[in-house]
Amino acid sequence: MPEPGDSRRRVTVAHPALPVITPASGEEPPGLYLHIPFCKRRCAYCAFNSHACLVPPAAYLTALASQIRYWGAQDWCRERTFTSLFIGGGTPTIYPGNELAGLVSLCLNSFHFSDDPEITVEANPNTVSLEALSILRRGGVNRLSLGVQSFSDRLLGALGRTHSRTEACTAIDAARKAGFANINLDLMYGLPGQSAPEWRESLDQAIAHEPEHLACYELTIEEGTPFARQVDKGELALPGEEEALAMAELTHAFLAQSGLQRYEISNYARSGQECRHNLNYWRNGSYLGLGAGAVSCLSGFRFGTVQHPDAFVGMVAGGKLPLAEGECLPLEARFRESVVMGLRMLEGVSFTRLQRRFGLTPPGYYGKILEDLQVQGLVVISQDTLRLTETGLLLANQVLAKLV
Ligand code: SF4
Repeated sequence: MPEPGDSRRRVTVAHPALPVITPASGEEPPGLYLHIPFCKRRCAYCAFNSHACLVPPAAYLTALASQIRYWGAQDWCRERTFTSLFIGGGTPTIYPGNELAGLVSLCLNSFHFSDDPEITVEANPNTVSLEALSILRRGGVNRLSLGVQSFSDRLLGALGRTHSRTEACTAIDAARKAGFANINLDLMYGLPGQSAPEWRESLDQAIAHEPEHLACYELTIEEGTPFARQVDKGELALPGEEEALAMAELTHAFLAQSGLQRYEISNYARSGQECRHNLNYWRNGSYLGLGAGAVSCLSGFRFGTVQHPDAFVGMVAGGKLPLAEGECLPLEARFRESVVMGLRMLEGVSFTRLQRRFGLTPPGYYGKILEDLQVQGLVVISQDTLRLTETGLLLANQVLAKLV
């Protein structure tokens, strides 16, 4: 049976901003996300919901804990088994290890989790110590995602990062000593003044640390950032399109030889160590996001949380749900989203799964649009699956724009 669309959804208002959310058929287990919106300093390219501070406010964790308790007691959550917890930011490790471990413990006690949940904490290299990492590991955190971005001090400086190459290496070594057997390193290419050999050098150094997972993103210039202003004034020299494409191709070729399988446009992992939490996003599963600016999608009902941490803290302290806007997504919109996000994964999207969830399949829904993409060699249909080809992956933005 397909999931109910808007017209058939039973929407009974349980809270002024929150309908009763009916279960959907064919739904995968959800993930839980906590947002920590603080960093020591803002990077020059950052468009995330993050605020600079040296000492993060204790009141924020109090409000977050209150939200964890509230949501853990809601029917939608009580009826489900969560398989992943991801604490992201910002820089979660700007808080001491014992406070983050306390949040993890509260989540494990407030929600029902599977026997072996994936529990990730994001960290920046100069905000972790062996002691803090050991506390997190003992507290059940089993995956560490380190924002390394580059192994070049010159490029780290250009990005406005607060850490050095040496601090990144020290943090990785400390994570291993603390017992982390699943480490992701975030890296960026297409940086101001970066050449392909320099990018290869960063990849080389990353691989030397034998990470289980690598996320390699091309720098994008986001509106309102210092980098965007510098671009407008002609003060930022970025690699050209061809050079950036060469770096992308180099990434795939280089990592293919290193035992890290590409499983999403920008993500590579050793077999079995793909990020479970993110796979759930790309499969358009349900997730609950708590904290300032976090977004949730529960059985097709999507809603945000107020952006500013002060507003979040104030509303929670005043006994209000700190929710921003919410919408029930129509069935077709959810189908298209599932196709577009699913095609980011190399496994592509399964017709059987889409048929079960939405009563629709890509060939029947997109018709000629999909046929044209096939003729152009950008997508391939094999048996039950639609996926991007090698060329399609390189031109993913253009291909996916046709299916949105
Ligand atoms: S560390 Fe990440 S979230 Fe924080 S300012 Fe830099 S890019 Fe933004």
